[in-house]
Amino acid sequence: MEELVRYADSLFDISLSARQIEALRVYEQELLEWNERMNLTAIRDVPGIRIKHFLDSFSCVLAWRDNPPASLIDIGTGAGFPGIPLKILYPSMRLTLVDSVGKKVDFCRHVVQKLGLEKVEALQARAEELGQNPRYREKYDCAVARAVAQMNILAEYLLPLVRVGGIMLAQKGDSGPSETHSAEGAIHLLGGNVRKLIPVELPGVVEDRFLVVVDKVGATPPGYPRRVGVPAKSPLEVKKVV
Ligand code: SAM
Repeated sequence: MEELVRYADSLFDISLSARQIEALRVYEQELLEWNERMNLTAIRDVPGIRIKHFLDSFSCVLAWRDNPPASLIDIGTGAGFPGIPLKILYPSMRLTLVDSVGKKVDFCRHVVQKLGLEKVEALQARAEELGQNPRYREKYDCAVARAVAQMNILAEYLLPLVRVGGIMLAQKGDSGPSETHSAEGAIHLLGGNVRKLIPVELPGVVEDRFLVVVDKVGATPPGYPRRVGVPAKSPLEVKKVV
């Protein structure tokens, strides 16, 4: 863990407390154990978990620096990334974890209970359903996702959940800039405006990584998100990159 603690400090200015380090240790242990029984995540080795899961989740802090969101929804959270590591950093943040696969949500609930995390809800649901549910629609300071869908589809999953004045955050690989450029029409249609792309470097990871920060500048039109499955099957029009 010393290496993770050092990198969190040097790369993201995060100083982890003994309590936070212990929470990450317990989370890591549960991930390793559950992964033996079911396919929770492709990254199964300890260094991989610490760098590609924990540190990569921490990189989201670059989007808000000293002003973290009071409420966050993590769509397609899988085994809890990036939502649970961010909750460990910000214990008072209200967090909603969402995945369409029940066993992944069961794991998230187990970790939340094991770590005694409060103000966390883990839901087996589709982003498209929550986006049309008044309990969740435009209720969050930040909606985040990693490795869930192409940017134009992701914008339809995330932006309806963000309050006007909040942000959508997409953790992307090297396709981040081109995906974002070609999704700009969809983002505007849904009430968003691309603020910036932040390059993220992780130790030992060669692929370029980007945080795409989108401001929610206007209300999402009532027809979006469309019905479950439609955003992925008929994505909002993509601008051709020339
Ligand atoms: N975010 C996690 C991570 O980076 O480790 C998991 C990424 S995994 C590749 C993508 C997850 O998104 C899957 O668990 C899948 O079930 C979920 N997912 C895909 N589309 C979804 C949707 N429309 N609503 C909710 N979950 C979705």
